[in-house]
Amino acid sequence: MPGRKDLSLVDRMGDRDMNQLTNQLKTPKMQNEAAVAKPIRSLDDALNQCQVLGMRLSRQRRFILELLWQAKEHMSAREIYDRLNQQGKAIGHTSVYQNLEALSSQGIIECIERSDGRLYGNVCDAHSHVNCLDTNQIVDVYVELPEELLKQIEEQTGVRITEYKIDFYGYRMNQSQASV
Ligand SMILES: [Zn+2]
Repeated sequence: MPGRKDLSLVDRMGDRDMNQLTNQLKTPKMQNEAAVAKPIRSLDDALNQCQVLGMRLSRQRRFILELLWQAKEHMSAREIYDRLNQQGKAIGHTSVYQNLEALSSQGIIECIERSDGRLYGNVCDAHSHVNCLDTNQIVDVYVELPEELLKQIEEQTGVRITEYKIDFYGYRMNQSQASV
């Protein structure tokens, strides 16, 4: 008997490259490096930066940025929520928290970790704080240390100083200032 032809059927169907397909569907990553370097000095700068980073500028997000730039003080999420709702700008708790988280993680607003919780502020570049111990307020100040002192610190530590943030602590000198 002649040998039967052995038909071996090799199934090559499973070789489709799904990885390549999914890679094509992914959107390219945005390059944020150039955008991050620009300092934010005003509400307009902050709004602009959101757009540069591709963040959606919802009404709620705008409310929060406007409030922080108007108030120019450091506030907790709770205070921000209370103030906006007092102003008749309806915003939910979750929305406040999510927006603060997004804005601070992108470096558009300042976030200070304190033992009693987080505080948020409008300024995000290097600045110093005056902590008022009787009102619990934190006031932003720009302090310039004398060149000589900076040199001395550099010599002491072997670290070249590029920026600094100083925390001052103290009490109000008169009560009329405390209400500002
Ligand atoms: Zn600050």
